[in-house]
Amino acid sequence: MGYVMDIEKPKKVLIEEELYICPQCGYKDGFHNSFVRQSDKICKIILICPSCHARFDVNWVVEI
Ligand SMILES: [Zn+2]
Repeated sequence: MGYVMDIEKPKKVLIEEELYICPQCGYKDGFHNSFVRQSDKICKIILICPSCHARFDVNWVVEI
C-alpha cells in the first residue's frame, strides 16, 4: 500500500453562500486545487485544505 492509495476519497461538500473555511479544521484562507481526470475531456477539481490537507469534492467539473 503506497502513500497515494491511502488518500481518502474527497468528502462531498455543498457550497451554500461561500466556501472558504475548511469544514474539517477551520482554516480560513481558502483551498488548493487538484485536477482529477474523469474522461478525455472532463476533469473534476478537488479542493485541498492547505492546513490539514483534507480533500473536498464540491462537484466542480470542468472541460479541459
Ligand atoms: Zn483544514
